[in-house]
Amino acid sequence: QDLANSHGFDMVGFTSADPFENSKDFIVQRVDEGLLSGLSWFTKERVERGSNPKNILKDAKSIISLGFSYYTTKPKQNTDTINGKIAMYAWGDDYHRIFERKIKDFIADLKQLTSEETNTYWYTDTGPMSDRAVAQRAGVGWFGKNTNILTDKGSWVVLAQIITNLDLEESPVSKKHCGTCTMCIDACPTNAIIGPGILDNNKCISYLTIENKGPIPMELRSKMGNWIFGCDICQDVCPVNRKQALGNAYNDFSQKDSERVSPDLISLLKISEDSFRKRFAKSPVLRAKVDGMKRNVCVALGNIKNPSTVEPLSEALIKESVLVRGHAAWALGQIKTDSAIKSLASRKKLEKDPWVLEEIELALNSENG
Ligand code: SF4
Ligand code: SF4
Repeated sequence: QDLANSHGFDMVGFTSADPFENSKDFIVQRVDEGLLSGLSWFTKERVERGSNPKNILKDAKSIISLGFSYYTTKPKQNTDTINGKIAMYAWGDDYHRIFERKIKDFIADLKQLTSEETNTYWYTDTGPMSDRAVAQRAGVGWFGKNTNILTDKGSWVVLAQIITNLDLEESPVSKKHCGTCTMCIDACPTNAIIGPGILDNNKCISYLTIENKGPIPMELRSKMGNWIFGCDICQDVCPVNRKQALGNAYNDFSQKDSERVSPDLISLLKISEDSFRKRFAKSPVLRAKVDGMKRNVCVALGNIKNPSTVEPLSEALIKESVLVRGHAAWALGQIKTDSAIKSLASRKKLEKDPWVLEEIELALNSENG
């Protein structure tokens, strides 16, 4: 505990290396129900493997759960531009890099304090283990109805775990729970939280804007507001997050550049792949890829409905990839000024891709405007 504190982790807890039977059954059921169907790598085999720590480290005896609060303050936003929103965890550098550095230092000191015989294997959320199930059993926090781990420092946390052959005393499991609160369920714009602690990933804005590489389902687009990478709504409304303090790794997560927090949508719509990589260097936002981001920008612009965006959207309808052209057509159909209709109609004559043509047709026939 002291060692983890001295390395600046905001949360630390310990649990045994016993299998996570309950969480395995829960996740397998979600996979069976198709609630994680967009994540092709999220298979039952992966869940099975990740549910037993001894599958990962043969002589595993304990797991150390570690967390950082990424809560940070917003830089001043440019009010002259039309802006999108990025989820808070992605404002700064990719937390996997931050964790990697800190965990490696922690493990080196742990080995020095114990013995060279100490075996360890660590994961952030990229491995097959459920970092949240580990955190819950290690007393770091409890499962909120929004599926996040709620800790004494709120739910703005990133988690990692170290499996080890050290025999460590287990931390008590938190007795706290959400009680009768349903604020996150009520606030979710896409109704992605289909029951307490049950998320339909296919409807969640986080999944739709990041992992999803194809079109965004039409019926969800108008519910996404101006979120262009992730979504913080179910955490923003959570009363557990009302009192917030900055975490120890605040400097790693903080961001002074408002373009990495609430970017100007028009410049993002026009950005080249090279500039996108440069602008979001080291940021988790790169995961969306430039075309995915432009798709998200089109959806946000379709929701903002500012007539001044017709021109750049019309340009995107001609110049961009199939994915972006289809969503640009949708956005123009939402704005539906005379010039938006004109752009759609003239593109209809030239467009060759059948899906984009379908989007253009639907946009022209929509009841907006
Ligand atoms: Fe709903 Fe947004 Fe929470 Fe996803 S992240 S469950 S879309 S409120
Ligand atoms: Fe639990 Fe309420 Fe927070 Fe949802 S908003 S996670 S129900 S405390």
